[in-house]
Amino acid sequence: MKIRLHAFEPTSRANGPGLRAVIWFQGCTLGCPGCFNPTTHEPNDGYETKAEVLAADLITLPGIEGVSISGGEPFQQPEALADLVRRLRQTSLSILIFSGYTLKRIQTMPLGPTILASIDVLVAGPYVREQHSGRGLLGSTNQHLHLLTSRYQPSDFTRLPRREIILHRDGTMTVTGFAVFEGVEKRDLDGITSSSRLERLPSFPGKLR
Ligand code: SF4
Repeated sequence: MKIRLHAFEPTSRANGPGLRAVIWFQGCTLGCPGCFNPTTHEPNDGYETKAEVLAADLITLPGIEGVSISGGEPFQQPEALADLVRRLRQTSLSILIFSGYTLKRIQTMPLGPTILASIDVLVAGPYVREQHSGRGLLGSTNQHLHLLTSRYQPSDFTRLPRREIILHRDGTMTVTGFAVFEGVEKRDLDGITSSSRLERLPSFPGKLR
């Protein structure tokens, strides 16, 4: 099953409990005002791979306890998302999805219930700039953390890093977390990107290059 991704980070501690791989899907039509991830919106950007290849790579990553799936909007590639989580569900990895859709909306999608039955955690709802939170995994206070299995408890989400900088061997850098931009304007970061790749890669808000 083809799947179009925006980015992949093999290890992160700011996108869910424990050490996690993070996948950012490419494509989102929801258009939340204030989204800092505009480069994830165009459905034909990013790169294409296959769900089976991605799942195989994730399963062999050492030391991670789970996978966080973000975007873009993962539920706008429902077949690929269903295929991916079905494969991951057969392992011991926990699965967390960030979505701009509400749980109620996802439940009405053709593959929504199937996907929900295969994951542990859903962070749901559009980003609302006026209700910006930056705490826990919530980009804004209207969003909800749904614990869909008994794998995690609310206390597992109270001490997550609010920001994280990951340095890569190739000289690039990933900046992720939910408080990266507090007190910092996007234009202030643009200068940094000239010498190194700077990525803001949580689900809410977004990514810079
Ligand atoms: S915040 Fe998420 S759901 Fe909203 S427009 Fe941006 S990528 Fe899409």
